[in-house]
Amino acid sequence: MQLPGGISEGGARRRDFAFRPLTGVVELALAEAASADCSMPARVTAALAASLETVGGRAPLPEVVAGLAVADRQFLMLQLAARLGIGDTWFTACCRSCGESFDFAVDFRKLPVKEAGEGFPFVDVETGLGTCRFRAPTGADQEPLADLDDDEAMRCLLDCCMVADESSSREIVDSLNAEDMGRIETALEAMAPEVAVSVQASCPACGALHDIEVDPYRALSPKMGEGLLQEINIIASVYHWSEAEILELPLDRRRRYLELIDRGRGMAG
Ligand SMILES: [Zn+2]
Repeated sequence: MQLPGGISEGGARRRDFAFRPLTGVVELALAEAASADCSMPARVTAALAASLETVGGRAPLPEVVAGLAVADRQFLMLQLAARLGIGDTWFTACCRSCGESFDFAVDFRKLPVKEAGEGFPFVDVETGLGTCRFRAPTGADQEPLADLDDDEAMRCLLDCCMVADESSSREIVDSLNAEDMGRIETALEAMAPEVAVSVQASCPACGALHDIEVDPYRALSPKMGEGLLQEINIIASVYHWSEAEILELPLDRRRRYLELIDRGRGMAG
């Protein structure tokens, strides 16, 4: 499996990635990222830095994962949710046409992915002010946008993504008219990779189609890491291993020990 975008350097694009083995250490880091008092893009950066082994041939340093295209980060978070066992889920929706409620399943690993277009991560756009060059938005570009209204967020994002002299890019972006903005948005959408973060489901009663949004950052749910300390406590009290040793166990081994402990108790009782 490959990243829809990847890291470009010197004309070559690396799209490979690998996750670390899923141990308690990684789960604890994810739980910390999930409850961190910072923006969602910053939490995603922390989660990916903690759970990846490599990305695009590099170590997953925070500045490397923050510099990935937004869709690459969503794609990786969806894979991470699948690894954590929360990648298949049932949604319940209420039909707006007939009022019936219905259930449907979503597999996070099967959401449609659009790979990056030609020229990624750059695209040139003809505007009223001449040709402007932009690069695909990254996680780092999203961080300052949280509290801005739509128009200001779009201009701030284009300012970040414009390949120009830093002192002049905001001035240029502020001089773009609505037609230019629309053209840039369309060009960026065509070039940047994309992950579908909504699914279409049809109501079984009346056939009406619904777009249902999927949270690509589900691995950062507030429930992350719930039960981990309790599991450590159970294993430590039986085997007398240290917290650090138990945290190093891969998730499936930790679960097997818990099963063994459970079975032992059943036999004793
Ligand atoms: Zn219906």
